[in-house]
Amino acid sequence: MTPAECAAEFAEWLEAFLPADYYTAKYAEYRWDIGLRRAFQEAAYEAGWLQPAWTREHGGRELGPAETMAVRLESAVRSAPKLPNIQGPGVVAPGLRHFGTPEQVDRLLVPLLRGHEWWALGMSEPGAGSDFGSLRTRAERNGDTYVVTGQKIWTTQAHESKWATLYCRTDPSVPKHKGISCLILDMESPGVTVRPIRMATISDETFCEVFLDEVEIPVSSLLGQEGQGWSVAMSSLEHERDMIWIMNWVEIERGLQAVARHSADLDDGLLAALGRRLADAAALRATGFRGLEDTLANRAAPQATILKLLGSEALQHTWELAATAAGAEAIVDPGLSFERHDALAATIYGGTSDVQRNIIGERVLGLPRV
Ligand SMILES: Cc1cc2nc3c(=O)[nH]c(=O)nc-3n(C[C@H](O)[C@H](O)[C@H](O)COP(=O)(O)OP(=O)(O)OC[C@H]3O[C@@H](n4cnc5c(N)ncnc54)[C@H](O)[C@@H]3O)c2cc1C
Repeated sequence: MTPAECAAEFAEWLEAFLPADYYTAKYAEYRWDIGLRRAFQEAAYEAGWLQPAWTREHGGRELGPAETMAVRLESAVRSAPKLPNIQGPGVVAPGLRHFGTPEQVDRLLVPLLRGHEWWALGMSEPGAGSDFGSLRTRAERNGDTYVVTGQKIWTTQAHESKWATLYCRTDPSVPKHKGISCLILDMESPGVTVRPIRMATISDETFCEVFLDEVEIPVSSLLGQEGQGWSVAMSSLEHERDMIWIMNWVEIERGLQAVARHSADLDDGLLAALGRRLADAAALRATGFRGLEDTLANRAAPQATILKLLGSEALQHTWELAATAAGAEAIVDPGLSFERHDALAATIYGGTSDVQRNIIGERVLGLPRV
């Protein structure tokens, strides 16, 4: 099947799954409908659309990268329901599949993919966000267990998760990136305390603080080898970044439609700003496809490194423009206000814009570190 045929088959499946009034004014409600979102994940898993590139038992249909991208774009363009615990299938699952032992994969992957067990990402700490390598949560080996003490922060949905990938320092004597390991933490273990952080938006992706006080984790819960945590994290985040630009692109398109509703009232300055955002959206999509083409041809794809930066910044500018174009209405429109606030997070999660610029400068352009 061609990519277009795969996308068409997915679209037909999605249309049959969604309630008939999904694309009406009721979309605002459906967007947050946790029952619908859970049912969507389960149905997508069953039908092989959850991870299209993977095998059937892992929620896929063994599609190639171009076909998978076509399905993902179709899903985004049609505003398919948002997965309720996106970091599970989006970030943890690829890492688990790649680094997990057969026992870990057998026990954990399918409940994750079906959405029956939620996962949290225990990476950031106070003082170790962008500088992930500086994390201080300590895991000391004692026979067949690690004893873990430390603190995580910004751990999305930790209060509702059964499991977490917990990054800890297992060896303080080696260079910092080499002394990190990834442990699979059962969130119900004694010594784990989760405190949700009050949010400024209506999002259900609640941030939490996670405190770990002498938590015992079996050595068999290591994901990857001891000391391989950095590679597990980087490989997982790479999948997240691939996903992020498509999400950003669709949200930019929605923002542009919100601006267009006021097109008759825009002055020359705002029309020029709209032109820039339209160009950003087109550039983002074209760059995403160029990256895919190069990957398929086994060529280096350095342009992929700008996708996160371009997508997240264009997203913020677009919703800011939508608010300016709406004028006073922006203050009383809860949907617009949510989009604007939600866009602010885009330049932080998955690597801040400053860090993305460092990566492009140092690794792609070969500029000296200052
Ligand atoms: C919506 C959302 C969901 C998240 N979910 C999770 C989660 O589930 N699990 C998890 O572990 N974390 C999560 N995070 C946290 C996220 O990974 C961190 O916020 C991010 O890594 C930045 O770290 P920080 O907040 O500590 O900021 P810092 O790293 O302290 O950065 C502060 C400022 O300094 C700048 N800066 C830092 N280092 C450099 C540098 N070398 N050069 C130039 N500028 C620099 C940054 O760009 C930023 O502007 C989430 C964040 C958001 C917004």
